[in-house]
Amino acid sequence: MTKFNQVFWVLVAWLGLSVLPAHAQAPKLVVAIVVDQLRYDYLERFEPHFSTNGFRLLMERGAFMTFGRYNYVPTVTGPGHASYLSGGGPAMHGIMGNSWFDKKTRQDVSCVSDSKVQSVGTTNSSGKASPHRFIGATMADQMRLHFGSKVISASIKDRGSILAAGKKPAGAYWYDADTGRFVTSSYYMQELPSWVKEFNNRELPQSYEGRVWERLLPEDSYHYSDQGIGEGRLQGETNTVFNHIVAVSTNGFDTFYSTPFGDHLTTELGLAALKGEALGQGQHPDLLCLSFSSLDGCGHIFGPYSHEIQDMVVRLDRQLERLFNHLEQTIGMDNVTVVLTSDHGVAPTPEFAKAMGLNGTREGGNFMTDLMARMDQEYGAGKYFLSPSLSYGNIFLNYQTLKEKQLAPTAVMSFIRDYALSTGFYQACYTREQLLDGRVSGWIGQCVLNGFNAERSGDLVLVNKPFAIPGSSKTGTTHGSPYSYDSHVPILFYGKAFKPGRYADEFYITDIAATLASALRIEGPPGSIGKPCVRILATP
Ligand SMILES: [Zn+2]
Repeated sequence: MTKFNQVFWVLVAWLGLSVLPAHAQAPKLVVAIVVDQLRYDYLERFEPHFSTNGFRLLMERGAFMTFGRYNYVPTVTGPGHASYLSGGGPAMHGIMGNSWFDKKTRQDVSCVSDSKVQSVGTTNSSGKASPHRFIGATMADQMRLHFGSKVISASIKDRGSILAAGKKPAGAYWYDADTGRFVTSSYYMQELPSWVKEFNNRELPQSYEGRVWERLLPEDSYHYSDQGIGEGRLQGETNTVFNHIVAVSTNGFDTFYSTPFGDHLTTELGLAALKGEALGQGQHPDLLCLSFSSLDGCGHIFGPYSHEIQDMVVRLDRQLERLFNHLEQTIGMDNVTVVLTSDHGVAPTPEFAKAMGLNGTREGGNFMTDLMARMDQEYGAGKYFLSPSLSYGNIFLNYQTLKEKQLAPTAVMSFIRDYALSTGFYQACYTREQLLDGRVSGWIGQCVLNGFNAERSGDLVLVNKPFAIPGSSKTGTTHGSPYSYDSHVPILFYGKAFKPGRYADEFYITDIAATLASALRIEGPPGSIGKPCVRILATP
């Protein structure tokens, strides 16, 4: 190609942005919201306490998929955010956990950490992050390709902000808990825009100092006990019950992270982004991705049957109401499409589950140590594993040792599987070979397969039994399993393109991108494995 031709086509590509196609029904703005750790049952349990214009706006005037499920493991934050707008699980996009053992560098890596980029807005390393480990594209990229959409993303968590927003949003911002400021990285830009600087200068985190978190509703409106068994404590506190007091000056800028003040901060940033970026004011639809992280922090400590969780969800409802009221006043909700879901659910604390007659247990975290001792016994002393810890049930074999000892990998994998299943803690164990061949059956098998990335995953994948919590913590709870408490999440679509109603249809998290793409009449992301729910589309 001649120099002239090159310049010509660059110009055409650039000018093309101003004549991109649109259809009459296209909204001016799409708002994609993730509420971190929002279980499906929260919306049903707490609905009587919701305002008219928060969650209820979506539940009553939108399409509410009441049987939305994650169809892969692990059900954790990084994969959840990478999946819901890309339409594929970890098998496709490669985000197989919040962090994982990286076979190439032989060390644990965070799903968004990026040593090749620089922090912007802070001098520490909290900004050194990008979507470079994400494979493929999300609806954010598809909207940019089709409409030339401006994409802005914000969350307290870096992964909550980065992974949904695709490969090249106009901005992605997350919270630096060392300085109490929102930051980004040189992957996106060289300097924070003035509206983010102004937002940081408001010093909202400092303003939470001394604030009391008390119940919003009368005490008898709360389900279960405030003294729930298995509950942990907020940072710096000695009590597990209301009231809670924020002490930023003593405990640092992340002390309010697990309280409603974290959601307040996120809402304020969302409102500032709408104004600062003039989102929804142009010819073509823009996209705002918001992820509310604080419910997750609270849920890990207090569990799903606590007063704190009920209060967090009801207070978040009021934050959503503020956001939707603002959109109504500025853009008009007729011109807005909203999709809201969660990145995973959460298990009850094992102690609570046990008290309810269920098999709640905590696995002490000794599995790998015990397994290594068994291996030494069976095959003689050796370094049989690349990583000494389980990474979301993944075990990484050291093939060099197997080769030296002339051990057949299949025999070793059978030995490990038999041992794992004999411990009584695990429900299932799959080998790399099985998964590469697609030889799995049932719901759990399908979830493991959709979560298995051929390049990055381990040689065996273990799945714990229901109500069994891996890890060594003594209180609180976690998520990551294929079971309903972790995988069943609310999925809501709002906007002119959707027929309002409650739909208990079979619907997976990987169906969101296909459904949204159909509503916007654009091509879906390349790795999407889902299909649109035609029943909810106003004009399919
Ligand atoms: Zn999460």
